[in-house]
Amino acid sequence: MRRAIESDVCIVGSGISAAMVADRLARTTSAKIIVVEAGDETVPLTQRGAMRERFLRYGENPWGRDHLDGYEIEGPLQSRSMQVGGLAMHWGGVTPRFSPEDFKQHSLFGVGTDWPISYEDLDPFYQEAEEVMGVAGEQGPADLDPRGKPFPMPALPLTYNLQLLKEWAATAGIATWSQPSSKNSVAYRGRPACCRPGRRAGRQDMVESLVFRGKVEWSGENPGISLKTDPDGPFTTLASFFRVVLSPHGRGHALVLVQSPQEGAPPADRANLCLTDNEPLARYLVGEFMAKFAAFRGLPCLAGLQYRKAESFVASGDPLRDYTETVRAGDLTVVLNWQGLGEPFCFAHPPENSATGAHHMPSLFLGSERPSITVNGRVLPGKPVPRNVAGHPITTAMLAFSETWIRV
Ligand SMILES: Cc1cc2nc3c(=O)[nH]c(=O)nc-3n(C[C@H](O)[C@H](O)[C@H](O)COP(=O)(O)OP(=O)(O)OC[C@H]3O[C@@H](n4cnc5c(N)ncnc54)[C@H](O)[C@@H]3O)c2cc1C
Repeated sequence: MRRAIESDVCIVGSGISAAMVADRLARTTSAKIIVVEAGDETVPLTQRGAMRERFLRYGENPWGRDHLDGYEIEGPLQSRSMQVGGLAMHWGGVTPRFSPEDFKQHSLFGVGTDWPISYEDLDPFYQEAEEVMGVAGEQGPADLDPRGKPFPMPALPLTYNLQLLKEWAATAGIATWSQPSSKNSVAYRGRPACCRPGRRAGRQDMVESLVFRGKVEWSGENPGISLKTDPDGPFTTLASFFRVVLSPHGRGHALVLVQSPQEGAPPADRANLCLTDNEPLARYLVGEFMAKFAAFRGLPCLAGLQYRKAESFVASGDPLRDYTETVRAGDLTVVLNWQGLGEPFCFAHPPENSATGAHHMPSLFLGSERPSITVNGRVLPGKPVPRNVAGHPITTAMLAFSETWIRV
């Protein structure tokens, strides 16, 4: 069946070049990106043993989906790779750079043509690609192996034979350093260290990273409302609500209500409060997570938060239309309301983009155009401002469900 898919950018082919471009665009723009691939997905993990068995017995291609019919090559098993991931599904994962001389062959040796760019021009882009792929390498002598920054990971260990070779070369005054490789010498960006040298970081590893390797620290809901009275000024009222179903401190709720973000000890009518039924959990969330949220980072209000015991936390309404959380703590009733709700969307911040810089953070968000915070019937002033989350233009008021913080 025909499907029309609108996008800002369409990348034809899903090889590693496409994956890198798509990854960069997704990280740095809000463009809608589509990657179109002529080939199939690779053989599912569960079928690989059986496919290998048939390869050993009958000589069949163990990667049966790695090409399009009619595009086969005669001869022994070939590196056909019209599939999701392209040739990188079969590559060896060695990742040498060109050397500075490669760019100046004509000037230096009178052959070929000089490149219009130099090694130094490319160095930051090599580095970016190496960081995305995850490259382990050994720094060679600086004059022979210049690099603006170190390798993302230390080099893979040498085999016994290579160690001997290195020693022999050293006695002859010859510098050697190992081939950089897109294999994890240590755990890197949610993927564990390689337990055998054959593991490759092709497109498939980027897909597999959706498994979110790491330690789940807490999971639950974390909707919020951040308001400004002057759209160009700082936030004037902040509310962050937590309904936690799993954490080192058990289940519980917390509402952090900041009425005076820039003050450590404001007067009672503008107090900065944390209403909770589980204070150890609330202190953990505030100290380890909220203090790192962009809207709260560096504000004096968090250090002076007043923690108060709350009796009830009640959700009501419909998250697709009009949703409310009502918190009661003694003589205080705080009502958070989200209206003008947009389409729900799911995304996962990688650790480098998450607030802590150390967690995967998958979540389900709905932006709200018309939120309100009411304290004992008094509506707090301010409006949300536009915000972009994972390519979705929402506001600084949103519902956040199924939020899970996974430390890498
Ligand atoms: C066995 C082997 C080992 C290798 N080892 C290394 C190594 O160790 N180090 C190294 O640096 N390089 C290595 N390479 C080379 C490296 O894998 C490739 O240079 C690199 O993966 C190419 O990536 P690409 O994204 O440019 O293109 P490709 O991987 O070729 O991706 C192109 C994609 O476009 C798709 N496509 C083509 N036409 C269309 C169309 N009309 N519509 C939709 N989709 C289309 C294809 O199906 C394919 O998926 C190796 C290659 C092989 C085969």
